[in-house]
Amino acid sequence: MKRRDFVSEFLVGGTLLKTRGFNISQRAGSPPQGVSPTLTEGVFVERAASGKPHAGKVLAAIQPHTDDIPIFAGGTVAKLVGEGYTGYLIRTTNDEMAGSGTTGQRVLDNERDTENVAKALGLQKVFNLEYRNHQMDEISRVEMRARLVHLIRFLKIDTIVCYDPWGIYEENPDHYVTAQVVEAACWMAGMDLDYPEQMAAGLQPHAVKGKYYFARGPQIANRVVDISPWIDRKVEANLANKTQGPCGENGARLRSRLASQKLRLPILGPDDDAANRAYIKNIVLDYDSLSQRGVLSDRELGRRFGLEWAEAFHYIGPQESQLERYISERAVAI
Ligand SMILES: [Zn+2]
Repeated sequence: MKRRDFVSEFLVGGTLLKTRGFNISQRAGSPPQGVSPTLTEGVFVERAASGKPHAGKVLAAIQPHTDDIPIFAGGTVAKLVGEGYTGYLIRTTNDEMAGSGTTGQRVLDNERDTENVAKALGLQKVFNLEYRNHQMDEISRVEMRARLVHLIRFLKIDTIVCYDPWGIYEENPDHYVTAQVVEAACWMAGMDLDYPEQMAAGLQPHAVKGKYYFARGPQIANRVVDISPWIDRKVEANLANKTQGPCGENGARLRSRLASQKLRLPILGPDDDAANRAYIKNIVLDYDSLSQRGVLSDRELGRRFGLEWAEAFHYIGPQESQLERYISERAVAI
């Protein structure tokens, strides 16, 4: 399929930003097939910080399914927790449509995997909202928003990592419904009139100040996070997902399949345990990646920014008060 590149301009947060490398298929109605995130010019590279600069702050990794954060943002979540954040994992579905066995068995298996993902990423507790898997486009978004506002205020969440509510060509309703409801809850939690019963119960308004949005297709990305020191932690988080996702025990399965064909991939190592880790690191996060959806692998994204491994986000940071800025620039002593 023939493709063309184009440069487009987007108005983002009042600033005109140019984006490059967004490959568009010429076949009308089909998603982009090119291998490129949409990176804004002047993308900020977030590097490893020394010490615990985020001590005292709270992070929530929010995902519909137990494999979302590990694949797309596991390195960044591990990094932020390693740099001092107290972290929580919020899973919005019950993952009943992934895995094998009965429905009950699949729910249980994914629940156990989610706990292990949280442990691998250093997250303190899991909150499972338990909406039906693949059914989130029928839920009450207002009810879910109230639950999230409650959690943001109760846990005093400062920063979230979640799917991009403006990521394009997203086909899974669990992904886009979760992203859209989270986006609304982040600012509404800071208002002092919404859900007054929560304030009466002792909570205080508390807005989320930083948002790392990831996508499994093209998005406007303005931040690349260096996850090189955390890549093995990311591999462990993906290894925890035995029930679903492209990781789990697929390395051992591939090793077994090749052996039956009298073949061997040296990179898979000497045993099944090594093969599972090597498969995640060298195939899922590198060679294979998610390139069919138009995103770069962690390895390729890192290479383009002079890093070993990286993850891309649309990041929205704290909103600066324009009035306070105006005052600081113009006020004189009396
Ligand atoms: Zn998912």
